[in-house]
Amino acid sequence: MNESPKLIIGNWKMNGLRAGTHQLMCEIVQRARGLPADVRLVVCPPFTQIERAGRILRARGVGQSIVVGGQDCHMSACGAHTGDISAEMLADVGARYVVLGHSERRQAHGETDALIRLKVRAAMSVGLVPVVCIGETMHERQEGRAASVLASQIDGSLTSDFDGILAYEPIWAIGSGVTPSRDELERTLYLLGGLLRSRLKKDDIRVPILYGGSVTPDQAHAILSIRSIGGVLVGNASLDAQRFMQIAEAA
Ligand code: PEP
Repeated sequence: MNESPKLIIGNWKMNGLRAGTHQLMCEIVQRARGLPADVRLVVCPPFTQIERAGRILRARGVGQSIVVGGQDCHMSACGAHTGDISAEMLADVGARYVVLGHSERRQAHGETDALIRLKVRAAMSVGLVPVVCIGETMHERQEGRAASVLASQIDGSLTSDFDGILAYEPIWAIGSGVTPSRDELERTLYLLGGLLRSRLKKDDIRVPILYGGSVTPDQAHAILSIRSIGGVLVGNASLDAQRFMQIAEAA
């Protein structure tokens, strides 16, 4: 896990029209030239901008070190699912990764662990790397239930042959400006590593664990210097090329 490149994933959420996407991607490319080879950037625009974003990366010759991903996919391959997007459709427009089970989808769309597991299967079946988000609420944390919530999310949403990425995103940290202390984060990463080992039932676990929730350039170095961390998932700060790239440079 530690020798893998650090992943810096930007989740644009529901932001990005054509002109803004063009500008943001061009700025990212320009600033990414000096990034070390062991840092990989993944940009996840809304579905309508994935192809455009990927095209800009390829046209500027950085399509290997910076790749694009989706923010969700449907569990089925095709069919009568109005408004939905399949994993294969994401791959077809150039996505390499897909964020699944983000807390905003769990909350606003009622997504359950069981559904997320089906989406993981769908993503893996077409070669997409699933980035599964888990995290406890402030209430669960205050009640001392964070560990059991995380265990049940891992158990429910990952397949036993899971080949992807886990993103620990405490819900209380998303968009709040509050982050766990380094010590707290290290303890949680240790816990998650153990949970993954028992869930995945294989010795050579290669599931990078990312942290997400109010990551800014100011604390990126402290977070990314934790030995067991695989990278970060960045929301708000990924909409600003300078801030996003400062985070990447801290890796
Ligand atoms: C997110 O929503 O995945 C996220 C990490 O958001 P933010 O960085 O804005 O807290």
